Amino acid sequence: LACLVERFVAENEADSIPEPEKIDDGVLKDLDIEGSVDYGLTVTGLAGKDFGGMYAVKPLAVIRPAGADDVARVIRQALHSPTLTVAARGNGHSINGQAMAHHGLVIDMKSMGDNNRIDVNVSAMYADVGGGALWADVLKRCVLGYGLAPTSWTDYLDLTVGGTLSNAGVSGQAFRYGPQTSTVTELEVVTGNGERTVCSNSQNSELFFSVLGGLGQFGIITRARVLLQPAPDMVRWIRVVYSEFDEFTRDAELLVMSPESFDYVEGFVFVNSDDPVNGWPSVPLDSNHSFDPTHLPTNTGPVLYCLEVALHYHNHDHPSTVNMMVEKLLGQLRFIEPLMFEIDLTYMDFLLRVKRVEQMARDNGIWDAPHPWLNMFVSKRDIAAFNRIVFQNILKDGINGPMLTYPLIRSKWNNRSSVVLPKGEIFYLVALLRFSHAHPKESEINEMVAQNQEILQTCINNGFDFKLYLPHYKSTEEWKKHFGDQWGRFVERKSQFDPKAVLAPGQKIFTRNH
Ligand code: FAD
Repeated sequence: LACLVERFVAENEADSIPEPEKIDDGVLKDLDIEGSVDYGLTVTGLAGKDFGGMYAVKPLAVIRPAGADDVARVIRQALHSPTLTVAARGNGHSINGQAMAHHGLVIDMKSMGDNNRIDVNVSAMYADVGGGALWADVLKRCVLGYGLAPTSWTDYLDLTVGGTLSNAGVSGQAFRYGPQTSTVTELEVVTGNGERTVCSNSQNSELFFSVLGGLGQFGIITRARVLLQPAPDMVRWIRVVYSEFDEFTRDAELLVMSPESFDYVEGFVFVNSDDPVNGWPSVPLDSNHSFDPTHLPTNTGPVLYCLEVALHYHNHDHPSTVNMMVEKLLGQLRFIEPLMFEIDLTYMDFLLRVKRVEQMARDNGIWDAPHPWLNMFVSKRDIAAFNRIVFQNILKDGINGPMLTYPLIRSKWNNRSSVVLPKGEIFYLVALLRFSHAHPKESEINEMVAQNQEILQTCINNGFDFKLYLPHYKSTEEWKKHFGDQWGRFVERKSQFDPKAVLAPGQKIFTRNH
């Protein structure tokens, strides 16, 4: 583990990798597309990096497709070669090289130009959206143009539609609407066979469900039909604090299971200290608010819990109606009463809230530094033990970033999609969103990666029922374990839709064959 970063840095050294031009086996000479092919080192260098900042590989070329037909031409051309692979790259916000293709072709989905347009059908309440469109652009177009909005989001919106649908796409709305994969009704996909196909629940349904949460293994999403609902004008955003994990989870579960609830429910763990990043100051929503620790019980442990909720409302709603609803919903909860923080903001500002964090992190130089993030789903059965062993012990000093945890509901996920989940109706997202210094030493990153491994090993040793979200494994054997009894289905889908394993090689699930 200690040498993980060094190894990938070494792999990236110019002299250890042949210049991309020199390994072009000629297949690309016949590639006839409307878009462009770029072999330049600047472009290929960028496409060989991601948000995680720990992996770097050089692709042979970066393709900027003019549309779905170009995507199909590229895949068909790659099939003529015995070795070429093709990776769709959304916004490259993966952590572990999932959107990379070592010596392969990277398709820059964001550059699909007009094909990434967002067409809103007001009467049928859906938007047809290009696979390379950013969710932030979907939000702006739907809300500003039509007063409509998708139902289920991610916390951060500079992610592409195709990128999140290949995983799941979860945030505080997923308890009600399911992950983003549950809120699309039709896809246009170019399969690993190079076929451009429209699929849905009723048409080519096996392809439709394979691709949703399919880690890019079966096809490249060139268009998605996203369900819309009327957008609210405003949001009341509230954070309340708990010292006891069982009270925090009881209340979070009450809210996600009850028919009358907030419109958004998330939560996070923070350190019981005045540390500006990890501790009390990370909770207040406004610079005018402050966290008064004298309200904490004297026997409080090393970490505390924050339940984060939001209620949508319209400008025409009377303030007293909004207040009454908030009071009613909060009235059932057992948080530490004075430790409540709330602000009102527009719906767009609420959904774009992480963009402001990004700006601050960019200003501090930590946005572009490595991010050894760990995301997982832990069953309700094991989340209390996970809290004791992981949050209260291994992570008691924090991770220099958010430690999210909140419940999700299995029946809102379609079990025909390719995502695998822990057992039981309720499971928790655990997201360890680590930040390093602006110019970290390798040892700093290695320690974070090692702590992630320690957490995973602890979960295995304790027999916890968990699955990685945004999974990352390096061997087929580990992938087989990840998929468990769904492995057979996943392999069968691969043999049907991408039998030569051309697609998404950066996931390291299958090896290119001919
Ligand atoms: P990429 O990283 O470019 O690609 C991811 C994978 O999908 C690759 O295997 C790629 O080949 C494949 N792929 C890309 N486009 C397509 C396509 N059109 N068709 C088929 N396959 C494709 N996730 C959540 O669920 N909830 C969150 O709140 C959340 N917040 C995040 C915040 C930040 C700051 C970051 C960095 C990530 C966050 N994520 C979150 C994770 C994010 O959803 C995934 O990393 C997602 O894959 C990133 O989208 P992308 O467009 O950058 O995809």
